[in-house]
Amino acid sequence: MNIHEYQAKALFEKYGVAVPKGVAVRTAAEFEPALAQLPDAPVVVKSQIHAGGRGKGTFTDGFKGGVKFAKTKADALGFAKAMFNNTLVTAQTGPAGRKVQTIYFTQASDITKEYYLAILLDRVSSRPVIVASTEGGVEIEKVAHETPDKIFKIIVDPAVGLQGYQARELAFRLGLSGDYFKNAVKLITSLYRMFWETDAAMVEVNPLITTPTGQVLALDAKVSFDDNALFRHPELVALRDLNEEDPKEIEASKYSLSYIALDGNIACLVNGAGLAMSTMDIIKHFGGSPANFLDVGGGASKDQVTAAFKIILTDPNVKGILVNIFGGIMDCNTIATGVVAASRELALTIPLVVRLEGNNVAAGKKTLAESGLKIESADTMADAAQKIVKLVA
Ligand code: ADP
Ligand code: MG
Repeated sequence: MNIHEYQAKALFEKYGVAVPKGVAVRTAAEFEPALAQLPDAPVVVKSQIHAGGRGKGTFTDGFKGGVKFAKTKADALGFAKAMFNNTLVTAQTGPAGRKVQTIYFTQASDITKEYYLAILLDRVSSRPVIVASTEGGVEIEKVAHETPDKIFKIIVDPAVGLQGYQARELAFRLGLSGDYFKNAVKLITSLYRMFWETDAAMVEVNPLITTPTGQVLALDAKVSFDDNALFRHPELVALRDLNEEDPKEIEASKYSLSYIALDGNIACLVNGAGLAMSTMDIIKHFGGSPANFLDVGGGASKDQVTAAFKIILTDPNVKGILVNIFGGIMDCNTIATGVVAASRELALTIPLVVRLEGNNVAAGKKTLAESGLKIESADTMADAAQKIVKLVA
């Protein structure tokens, strides 16, 4: 789960990570009162969307910049009005862009130098890794590609946590000394504590800055949490912004379905992520194109199958459905009953191919055959994929 910059910065403050003062609002009526809460201009006006590259982004009406430096509060008000409810396209949003529904006003900082700092999980060592660079404010992928020697990493042993010497080594390698050094060590230590205690998957600060008065501040904040750990953080779940998510994926999550929309025309309903992946592959192999990834999990109920069919059918590109179920824990007849009930309830008109295998498969096939519905049964995955590709062609 991702959160907005302003929410991430509120968490930063709670953990003692220094950030500039700021106020976020969701209506135009609150712009002026929000600006009044900040000390004197200059102010930076920041579009809040779940994507980076905002500063260099462009709005669909031609307005340039999702992050704007305003010399006066009057300028800030003008920028906020231009951004609000406007659609921002950045290198990370895709061409459709994202509608800006929250504006964050923040105090402008005097920047001496911009750095990069992130904490994430390193898949090779299976441990948290802190990544830092003296080249901040720019795309880190570009730095990694062109000057990899300017990026350094420290692996943290999760059993003992971040050690003082490791935080000092990072600050040292960033070339900091004096107050900057002391403040950077404090910031890195606090940021790691936040990463750890919130079960974050990633915390990225780009840029981290130094100011002429010795401060070290997080100027941007990108945070995402491990969904599997959210059950123990109700206060973080409350930060979820449904405006930033695909409505079909939100509906799917209510029924514990893992659904990802794709751009093909053959919908698939499968149990197990591995089988879902190979089902998409075999559709492609026989010349078709999958409309989604959908994993109904280990034990799909009739309600789940109906919900899954409904979600699948809201996609106007869908021209056929392939159900591919392996009855391991689940009984094939249960899924067959669910498929029949869902097809009836939704008066399904597009081709439906069902391939069942495993536990109680004979009864499942009988249920499908006796339903009187136009359901095409298949024996193998190859058979199923070929049938559905032919039917939608
Ligand atoms: P994004 O990464 O989405 O473009 P940032 O928050 O990093 O958004 O902002 C882009 C740039 O704007 C930063 O690299 C920084 O130079 C400048 N900036 C952002 N916030 C402030 C601030 N509070 N004071 C001064 N400059 C800022
Ligand atoms: Mg940034």
